[in-house]
Amino acid sequence: MRLSIKPILFLMLLSVGVYAQDQKQVIDRIVKEATENSQLEKLAYEVTDLIGPRLVGTPQMQQAHDWAVSTFQDWGVDARNEQWGEWRGWERGITHIDLISPRVVTLEGTQLAWSPSTKGGPTTGELVIIPDVADSAAFQAWLPQVKGKFVLISMQQPSGRPDYNWKEFATPESYDKMIETKREATQAWSDRIAKTGYNLRTLPQALEKAGAAGVLTSNWSGGFGVNKIFGANTKEVPTLDISLEDYGMLYRMVENGANPKIRVTAESKDLGKMPAFNTIAEIKGTEKPEEYIVLSAHFDSWDGGTGATDNATGTIVMMEALRILKEVYPNPKRSILVGLWGSEEQGLNGSRAFVEDHPEIVDNIQAVFNQDNGTGRVVNISGQGFLHAYDFIGRWLTYVPEDIRKHIQTNFPGAPGRGGSDFASFVAVGAPAFSLSSLNWAYGSYTWHTNRDTYDKIVFDDVRSNAILTAILTYMASEDPETFARDKSVLPLNPQTGQPQEWPTQRPLVREGGLD
Ligand SMILES: [Zn+2]
Repeated sequence: MRLSIKPILFLMLLSVGVYAQDQKQVIDRIVKEATENSQLEKLAYEVTDLIGPRLVGTPQMQQAHDWAVSTFQDWGVDARNEQWGEWRGWERGITHIDLISPRVVTLEGTQLAWSPSTKGGPTTGELVIIPDVADSAAFQAWLPQVKGKFVLISMQQPSGRPDYNWKEFATPESYDKMIETKREATQAWSDRIAKTGYNLRTLPQALEKAGAAGVLTSNWSGGFGVNKIFGANTKEVPTLDISLEDYGMLYRMVENGANPKIRVTAESKDLGKMPAFNTIAEIKGTEKPEEYIVLSAHFDSWDGGTGATDNATGTIVMMEALRILKEVYPNPKRSILVGLWGSEEQGLNGSRAFVEDHPEIVDNIQAVFNQDNGTGRVVNISGQGFLHAYDFIGRWLTYVPEDIRKHIQTNFPGAPGRGGSDFASFVAVGAPAFSLSSLNWAYGSYTWHTNRDTYDKIVFDDVRSNAILTAILTYMASEDPETFARDKSVLPLNPQTGQPQEWPTQRPLVREGGLD
């Protein structure tokens, strides 16, 4: 029997039409679920306000992993914590710093991560500023003077106003003068530290060996009222970061001979070795379960604030995207995996461990979508040097609603990322991984690694838009009849050396961190 071509063509067109119709329905339902039943505010509250910051090795990090697993399970999604290493265990306690002479002021400051505590109650002491000595011998001669004192090792900022504020209001002459004053002061301070014979890592240990009561820093972030809070380098006495405003006041009092005294309570606990984890959640694929789309975000944070924009926002985008997909697309063609990585902040450790430990997954990745750089809506996606990235990402993006897509600039094939966040761990082994890069919302100066990285800085409209974007890209990646083509583009010449640039390579990770 001969079949006429016409009915076959008709049936084919019909099935393509039905397919497109189904796709549109899924995408509409993603948008509807994200908009009408958003869990983002609840997730953000639980992870930032209730659990708090998620420094590697702390009980809060562990709580966060447990919370994520039980949240996924509540949504009917399989989830587990995978141990990849161990880290120095530490728990932040109370920090309380008061000026007690020449007047009483409760100061704004906090101990740095992993800071030793004040032993047996508060420590009271006078203050001293690192002197401007001729050389390391002169510094050694001066060093005994720190005994029993708190030592100021950061410069006094010439102004607590950010540059943009000066630019807006100062006369041009005054603005230029301020910029120059700041440049000179910064240079002079770095010379002063160098002349001690130590650097900012080794100096605190020399000070505590000489009997200092503690070390005071002020790591201004460049915005109003914002400091960056990292880890302590002392082993015996506390290291405390003081707000620019209070630090400047103390500094001026010392310089003017007012002989200020402070009383410090710094409580913390050393907890020995703590296991370090990644949280992995997974919806198994139905047709190609061995192929994966990975929704990627680091879960850990520094602990000056609550790690809201670095990276609770990326975390909740991935969680919410998976929740939505579980609702509207419960039987994906490919497997969908969420990876919430530990210890990104110390060198992408959790994601590097995952890449090392799971070649069977990494070799079969259709796409990784990582979000890390803040709360803003996604404005940039690079092809990360994959020659055919446009054919996939570019095509998937056309299904994203115009009001989200119109903000996104793409760069194909782009260049492979060499670090910065966890997508780089995958790119290094040639797995197609992409950064959903955000609008900055003053990330660098106001929230990134600062004491102001808190819930109130989250821009939920943008985060919601990112969850929709991620869910749709994941859906399209899962449904794609083709497997992502991993061909690498020829990289441009390095402008410095004139040599062809090479694809980044996998770098070693730290599996045992913070332990001496
Ligand atoms: Zn981050």
